[in-house]
Amino acid sequence: MPSLLTAELVRLNARASSKLDAIVQAGELLAAAGYIEPAYIESLQGREQVSNTYLGSGVAIPHGMQEDRHLIRRTGVAVLQLPEGVEWHDGERANLVVAIAAQSDEHIALLQRLTRLIGDPAQLLALVEARDPHVLVEALNGATRGTSTVIDTTPADFEQCIELVLDYPHGLHARPASAWVATSKRYQAAMRVRHGKLAADPKNLVSLLQLGATANAQLVLSAQGVDAAEALAALKRTIENLSAEEHERAAAARARRQKAQPVAWAPLDPATLFDGVSAGPGFAIGPVRVLRTTQPDIQDRPADTLEATHQLDRALRETASELDALTRDTTARLGAAEGEIFAAHRELLNDTELLNAAARMLLDGHGVAWSWHQAAEQQAARLAALPDPLLAARATDLRDVARRVLKHLGEDVATDTRLDTPAILIAEDLAPSDTAMLDPAVTLGFCTVSGGPTSHTAILARTLGVPAAVACGAALMDIADGSEAVLDGSSGRLYIGVSATDRDRARHTQRQLADEAQRAAANRALPAATLDGHVLEIGANITRPEQVRDAIASGADGVGLMRTEFLFLERHDAPSEDEQYDCYRRMVEASGGRQLIIRTLDIGGDKQVPYLNLPHESNPFLGVRGLRLCLRRPDLFLPQLRALYRAAKDGPLWIMFPMVSTLDEARQALALAETVRVELGAPKVPLGIMVETPSAAAFADHFAALVDFFSIGTNDLTQYVLAVDREHPELARMAESLHPAVLRMIKQTVEGARRHRKWVGVCGGLAGDPLGASILAGLGVDELSMSARDIPAVKSRLRASRLDALQALARRALDCEDVDAVRALDSDDIKAAA
Ligand code: PEP
Ligand code: MG
Repeated sequence: MPSLLTAELVRLNARASSKLDAIVQAGELLAAAGYIEPAYIESLQGREQVSNTYLGSGVAIPHGMQEDRHLIRRTGVAVLQLPEGVEWHDGERANLVVAIAAQSDEHIALLQRLTRLIGDPAQLLALVEARDPHVLVEALNGATRGTSTVIDTTPADFEQCIELVLDYPHGLHARPASAWVATSKRYQAAMRVRHGKLAADPKNLVSLLQLGATANAQLVLSAQGVDAAEALAALKRTIENLSAEEHERAAAARARRQKAQPVAWAPLDPATLFDGVSAGPGFAIGPVRVLRTTQPDIQDRPADTLEATHQLDRALRETASELDALTRDTTARLGAAEGEIFAAHRELLNDTELLNAAARMLLDGHGVAWSWHQAAEQQAARLAALPDPLLAARATDLRDVARRVLKHLGEDVATDTRLDTPAILIAEDLAPSDTAMLDPAVTLGFCTVSGGPTSHTAILARTLGVPAAVACGAALMDIADGSEAVLDGSSGRLYIGVSATDRDRARHTQRQLADEAQRAAANRALPAATLDGHVLEIGANITRPEQVRDAIASGADGVGLMRTEFLFLERHDAPSEDEQYDCYRRMVEASGGRQLIIRTLDIGGDKQVPYLNLPHESNPFLGVRGLRLCLRRPDLFLPQLRALYRAAKDGPLWIMFPMVSTLDEARQALALAETVRVELGAPKVPLGIMVETPSAAAFADHFAALVDFFSIGTNDLTQYVLAVDREHPELARMAESLHPAVLRMIKQTVEGARRHRKWVGVCGGLAGDPLGASILAGLGVDELSMSARDIPAVKSRLRASRLDALQALARRALDCEDVDAVRALDSDDIKAAA
């Protein structure tokens, strides 16, 4: 395609008072360069009267009416860059106005590139902020940056290159690959990773996975462009830094497999065995329910290309926020490693090749859902064909994500994994989303034809505590629905046709295992009292009322942190006061008079909500987040406070404000809360702050004079004390809450609270780590709040310790030089404390 855009047709840093003004300015560029007769500018305006040319993500594409084509001298486009944006349609703002004068259909390829750009917010932002017109010229004329995929003819490496051997025991799979992508995207340079004859763009997740790089693969990293050297060095560091973690994970998986070996029961009479791989320990006896998934039947319903592009863009954005919410929810419910599964899924949505392929089909006139489905299926089939089973399993992840997008495009693609009566679920494969949603109360266990022990599905099954076997072979699907079965998840075996005597023996074994589990549960319910009788309160961190029951069953005395932002995610607008009230009231009811600390909205930083249209922050963690945002947005804050105080009439709750750094912020929040309370005639409730900034810790004595309680958020406190972005792909591992500098801040906070006899808890990740919990207890906190599943281990550690020994441990930890030295105290002191 000839170049449609030249530098003279780009106007950087422009301003427009209105949409009309923007169209005229862009039209004048085309006219001045001789591409159109000036009269065509009117045609550009005329089009706008009959259709909306806003493409999505801040891009608008005004183009003239068909009947005015004779006013075009030659095909071209002009770009107006509007950093401040201009209102285009229905509140949507355009930052890039791409005016098209096309004699025939030469602009179709340009549209395709724009569609692809819309799926790549980072590159789009680079174009809005570019100070060199050639950056826009290259991007829109189709320079290759950020768009390459796996190239199966040997490509030349870029100018600068380094070689390395991949030291990951499980090869390059989605989790580390997402970190590679995050690092690479921070640089402008064009980059390439070559593995033999295959090369991939490290800014593209699927492309990296398709390299099929297994353990010890020889890789060549190369780059070219202004920051090529830095980009290469950073990517190399990321790759190497992840190595230790990959080895740890592999060792843990090996240990799990070894532990999974003992066979608790085996039939003595003949029975049919399906020998698979253990994916979740435990024992299940019951009927099977065979889930026969059919390929989604997506009809090709051609639609207007522009409208279809809007639809796809919307569906992708909705899926992205749904996955963000799922990541946070899964992290809070099941743990960080489980949450990362869905973070990696979200990255798949940025895959330029996938978006490109879908856009190509759209532009060929196919329907939006059909195009997306075809593009995703082609990619998934390529992944599934990789020789390494671990990498091939990523096809399941891609199909899972693709299905979510189809759902947002209005297709009925739900897999119904709900069971009415208890059963062992049998399926070809289960998507991670389906597994995360399984109800352990009726899902006795599950077996799949394919999948592997390290698949995301298996990770989730283990966390949910559902017995499971994967890779049981295709014959599994021949089992008749309703057949009685015995599943030994620990050895990965499913038996069908088991004799009545063997079934009785199996039930006996199952009862024995259940008794053992019950004994463990009974210990969980005991108080977290040290050997010398000092009792710590144990709270649970939750996001939804339904989780209260599980938290209490896991041994929590109450709720130490309810993160309310989850109410605001996965939707298009803020929840109303009534909706929030309903949720908080249900929390109060479920808590049944136990401690319940509800945190007000903590948005900003790592948690973003698209519909709030918050301005871009170059340092989100240092920007308008948490209470700072709430104080600026009474439209969000007041309904939440009202809902909380209404719920307070139904039962006890405490209100806590996040991300507080100055006394004035706390005073403002307290004053607003009091105004709302008086208006509603609600009872007084304890009002506290999270201590998660160094200023709050340093000023703890002042804050303690103002508020009723503290809860220390060690996750944020650590990132601010150590100046380490908790999400930074390379540095996040340095964000260690056990660092003595963080512990000293906690000590100062406890001392500040004590001076005014105020209650102090900890709700960051450190509280759920047995060593961290021991040190925190020694530092004198009143409460530890954590994920429900961390409670038993923390309780048993505290119950085996003496308070004076924990205090000595804390003193020694404060004097340590670094995290390793604090960890080294673990073995000696904890044993001595017992
Ligand atoms: C924290 O920062 O420790 C905390 C509990 O809050 P969040 O992780 O939700 O930021
Ligand atoms: Mg926090």
